[in-house]
Amino acid sequence: MKKEKQIKRWEKFTEKNDFKLNDDKEIVETLAEGVLKNRKKHGLGYCPCRLTTGNAEEDLKLVCPCNFKVQKTWKEKGECWCSLFIRR
Ligand code: SF4
Repeated sequence: MKKEKQIKRWEKFTEKNDFKLNDDKEIVETLAEGVLKNRKKHGLGYCPCRLTTGNAEEDLKLVCPCNFKVQKTWKEKGECWCSLFIRR
């Protein structure tokens, strides 16, 4: 998949939510490249900002988009761990 397609998917994902993609396009593009690289290497689009554990079940939690609203960074800063998604 191309980076642009990944970003479009994320945009669609955010449409009806209380969060959006980071306004900084460079950050979004870098993260899209990271997710796509992980997908190519590991078969799943893991979060580019966090380390996988090697435990397949545990690591499913790291597939982007993750359940970031339970994270401390969302509660405190209104952002996912990587600042890909930010509160509207
Ligand atoms: S922290 Fe952000 S970039 Fe990382 S997996 Fe979760 S939603 Fe994706």
